[in-house]
Amino acid sequence: MSELSKRITGIKPSATMAVTAKANALKAAGEPVIGFGAGEPDFPTPPHIVEAALAAVKDPKNYKYTPAAGLPALRQAVADKTFRDSGLKVGADQVMITNGGKHAIYATLATLLNPGDEVILPAPYWVSYPDQIKLAGGTPVIVSAPDTNGFKVTIAQLDEALTENTKALMFVSPSNPTGAVYTEDETRAIGEWCVANGVWLLADEIYEHLIYGDAKFTSAPGIVPGLSERFVIMNGVAKTYAMTGWRLGWLVGPVDFVKAATGLQTQLCSNVSNISQMAALEAISGPQEVLDVMLASYDERRKAMVSMLNAMQGVTCLEPMGAFYTFPSFTGVLGTEIGGVLVESTDQLAGLFLDHAQVAAVPGEAFDAPGHMRFSYALAMDDLVEGLTRLQDLLGKGTTG
Ligand code: GLU
Repeated sequence: MSELSKRITGIKPSATMAVTAKANALKAAGEPVIGFGAGEPDFPTPPHIVEAALAAVKDPKNYKYTPAAGLPALRQAVADKTFRDSGLKVGADQVMITNGGKHAIYATLATLLNPGDEVILPAPYWVSYPDQIKLAGGTPVIVSAPDTNGFKVTIAQLDEALTENTKALMFVSPSNPTGAVYTEDETRAIGEWCVANGVWLLADEIYEHLIYGDAKFTSAPGIVPGLSERFVIMNGVAKTYAMTGWRLGWLVGPVDFVKAATGLQTQLCSNVSNISQMAALEAISGPQEVLDVMLASYDERRKAMVSMLNAMQGVTCLEPMGAFYTFPSFTGVLGTEIGGVLVESTDQLAGLFLDHAQVAAVPGEAFDAPGHMRFSYALAMDDLVEGLTRLQDLLGKGTTG
């Protein structure tokens, strides 16, 4: 009999991390694997940010414990940035710095939820939300947002999911894994629904700057003043500034909420690395033009990927308007054979892609959307074209898109 905690052993390890680790291990073993798994920019962290970190390493005041909620200058910079980018005026006392965006989400859920509390979670959802909700003692209530509705939930669906136990709604726009972006009107309607029903709106804004074409990022707390007592924005530098390994995120919420979250932080990790905090300070308050180059490149890859996926037999792909993922449907491939094997699920198909084309992608089952697969386009164009050409050769070219 296991002596380990049921709560911890009941956690499903992150599928995105698993696919990434597997692809990297195969690459390290000399296999020509193309990895579409990781939501991780292929760009290096911009040099001025690295310089700020180097200066921080040389400054002895960074060798000591610092305040649990974060360096005062960084908390103020996040408050300023929240006004700049989300249109929401907040004080530095409404900000807590965390070890990456994932930690901000967990700290938020742990601070808010009591046993029995329900969190409405639109699916397809990012793999870590349900486990984090459960770990924090809550219950995820999944609402399906299919591609026929652009991967977005409607107010009618939220009404249907609402119970007396509903505590919060997870609102993610731009979305991981679908790249869907809610319009300003849709965002306002969802924010007002939360206000009307006394539901906390938890806004994961990590992809706020990765927006394409005519789409526009809107922060629900920024445009719905009634949310001021029941909102949390969760964010970080990882995706925008190519800083995944620096582990630096933050949450922004009402003062009492941040005070409680900081109490938890004092017991968990004291403070986030001062070096990463100083790098993040430069990232969010230094020159923002560095984003333009990366964004232009993602946009080019996005267009190439959508067109190559739609040219595959049995595959259809909606155009994502944000983040750096496509989320094509492979339902037209199910029931066919690959290498003499009948394809029955996208989970199985992901394995076949790895075996027959040395291509790694994350199956839709991980995001509660079987029939789909997630492909990141945060990889070099040459690799992207090579990987998708291999899949075109495997599946054949078709006209379904
Ligand atoms: N958020 C990224 C992804 O979805 C990084 C991996 C993870 O944290 O899950 O691929």
